[in-house]
Amino acid sequence: MMNQRSVEAFERAKRVIPGGVNSPVRAFKGVGGNPVFMRSAKGCRLTDLDGNDYIDYVMSWGPLILGHADPGVVGAVQRAAAGGTSFGAPSEAESDLAELVIAMVPSVEKVRFCSSGTEATMSALRLARGFTGRSKLIKFAGCYHGHGDAFLISAGSGALTMGTPDSPGITPGVAGDTLCLPYNDLDAVAAAFAAFPGEIAALIVEPYVGNMGLILPKPGYLAGLRDLTAKHGAVLIFDEVMTGFRVGPGGVQEREGVTPDLTTLGKIIGGGLPVGAFGGRAEIMDNISPLGAVYQAGTLSGNPLAMAAGIATLRALREPGVYERLDAAGARFTEGLAERFTAHGVPHQVARRGSMVGFFFTDTPVVDLPTAKTADTAFYGRFFHEMLDRGVYLAPSQFEAGFLSLAHDEDALHQTLAAADGALEALHAIA
Ligand SMILES: *Cc1c(COP(=O)(O)O)cnc(C)c1O
Repeated sequence: MMNQRSVEAFERAKRVIPGGVNSPVRAFKGVGGNPVFMRSAKGCRLTDLDGNDYIDYVMSWGPLILGHADPGVVGAVQRAAAGGTSFGAPSEAESDLAELVIAMVPSVEKVRFCSSGTEATMSALRLARGFTGRSKLIKFAGCYHGHGDAFLISAGSGALTMGTPDSPGITPGVAGDTLCLPYNDLDAVAAAFAAFPGEIAALIVEPYVGNMGLILPKPGYLAGLRDLTAKHGAVLIFDEVMTGFRVGPGGVQEREGVTPDLTTLGKIIGGGLPVGAFGGRAEIMDNISPLGAVYQAGTLSGNPLAMAAGIATLRALREPGVYERLDAAGARFTEGLAERFTAHGVPHQVARRGSMVGFFFTDTPVVDLPTAKTADTAFYGRFFHEMLDRGVYLAPSQFEAGFLSLAHDEDALHQTLAAADGALEALHAIA
């Protein structure tokens, strides 16, 4: 595969941007090699600087559920741009998108827009603290909630570890307010509430975890979190930045029938433009400024281009049969891959909800971060590059979910599975 232009573009970028990228996973550290620089995209396909085409299973990490450059979304953004790119004053498009979100997501009675998932989770946490008058936060090892200080804490060992920061620059004070627990372990949550009575403001969880690969909750786990938080007066926050509008119109909360107090949204809600949102019970949301005392703001919040892209995307998702089509494409992809891994004797675990997919190269069932880490990341890197060479762009890390869109048609899926045959044969020949 020719990649000379990507190599040159990376060299140039590294001179002016730390690591050559504006978000770390893009640098291909998880799989080795030179990142591919993109020129354009359409439907389920990316085209790189050297003119190579790829079937995309990253889809901008989730937002592009309709496909790249969807004509409806592009048209809506063009019309909005012609009418002014930002007002710094309210516009009706904000209420249009808010009404759609409220109609689709069960827990949301009121919603506020911001510009990223990170802003949404940071604001939801501040709101939960303001509402409860408490300080501490429970999160789970391996769950990602954006790069706000309070969330960049991973677990030490043991069921109940005071957080130690994942990154320099996070103060001990902030880290000490975050309790990091193992995912899928209700006893650990009960123990944390018992250890800090009346101190825990909120519990935040990716209800289906997509940020350590795809890991699903054990039966009863989410309902158990709902019971424990209600019992102890803590705000339950579902971080559905990735799963919202992805695993169904109402996200995980609708699929599983568990309603959180607050929900954070991002990715699909902006249809490929920068939008985040947090919403929930009106009683809690009304504590936000200017109605209440909890401050939250944004120069570009509710931006008309971003609102237009979000509205066009959510409206398209409300058409009949859309989630059935996404589900069928997701099933064909994961089942096709699993069959091939089995045929080649490659140990694997596969998970899927609708068009959100994941596979781990391990024979250990994956339920949390330690079991996810049993995956053979070196093999993932080799498989990734064999697929890339055959025109399939998977996530450049074992610990990321994959995404399909309405543009992943039969042709693309057939081509993907043929590439997997070739990749696995090549790896077999090396082994
Ligand atoms: C992507 C993501 C975020 C962060 O969103 P950004 O828009 O990247 O700031 C937060 N939570 C979850 C679950 C995510 O997947």
